[in-house]
Amino acid sequence: MKILKSEIKLCLSCMEEHEVNIVEVIENEGFKGVEVEFPAIYEHCVISDEYLANEEMIRANNLAVKDAYREKTGLLTSREIIGVREKYGVSQKDLAEILDWSMATITRYENHQVQDRAHDDILRKIDVDPQWFLEMLKRAKDKLSTKAYAYYHRRASQHCRSQKNQYLIASIRAIYADLDNAESTGFVELNLNKVIAVINYLAQQVNDLYKVKLMKLLWYSDALHFKRHGRSITGLAYCALPMGAVPEGHEQIMMLEGVNYEVFLYDNIAYKFIPAPGFEAKCLDADELNAIDRIVGEFGALSTQQIIDKMHDEEAYKCTDSRCIIPYSFAARLSID
Ligand SMILES: [Zn+2]
Repeated sequence: MKILKSEIKLCLSCMEEHEVNIVEVIENEGFKGVEVEFPAIYEHCVISDEYLANEEMIRANNLAVKDAYREKTGLLTSREIIGVREKYGVSQKDLAEILDWSMATITRYENHQVQDRAHDDILRKIDVDPQWFLEMLKRAKDKLSTKAYAYYHRRASQHCRSQKNQYLIASIRAIYADLDNAESTGFVELNLNKVIAVINYLAQQVNDLYKVKLMKLLWYSDALHFKRHGRSITGLAYCALPMGAVPEGHEQIMMLEGVNYEVFLYDNIAYKFIPAPGFEAKCLDADELNAIDRIVGEFGALSTQQIIDKMHDEEAYKCTDSRCIIPYSFAARLSID
């Protein structure tokens, strides 16, 4: 027995005013043929040694039995169901509308009625798959108020974006897990926060920063920092492609949250990088900023073709086989100090 609280009040067991303990007792009970153990709450009279539950406690104890059963049989608990609903900020009634369930279903599931397995599966799917929730939401659009729909849509979209970002990070990490040579990444473990910071910093300093140029400026910044300090800034590994150095995983990196660009259609699609609103280069230290500033000063105003030509003249590029990782050791022979 655990005492949760004591207070002096009229004790309903002995009808005297004295200190009454609110206690938690572990009890056993059978529910739907399953024996479950659950924490029950009572008022305890120390004089008569009697336990008494008020209406609120009876309700809570009843819910504790159901939740113990749900937990034991692998169903979401009432608290977890509330958590799924709150993840999207949806009301009980609207969630029932979205799922096409009868009006009070969610309210009941968040309380005493144990959900069936099929409904449990749907609630779990909503929890892990915001894209699917979004589809269900769109289907129910006409049944919801405009304001509520817009709010739920915004919440679900945020979860989609953050999930997409997690997938991107995982896929970039998988690419880098295959690089077994520390020299490929400049003796630094890939730091995506720094990658995002360098991209934003470059976008702040350089006008009209298109993709090919960005890739080269990233390589030059990392290579120059390596030449000066024996390690790269970002931990990116660069591959020697016909147009020069390109970071491994660049397609995923471009889509990370925090990397912003505008798309233009010229002869082909062009990506122009722009700094994220309110960006500050907080995670870059003075040496790192110094190396990037040097690169921006030297190459920032060059056209894409001019910087490709520069890159083609670098020993590091000339000595690396096409489509292979450019070793940072060549940074010693970089054309810039
Ligand atoms: Zn009493």
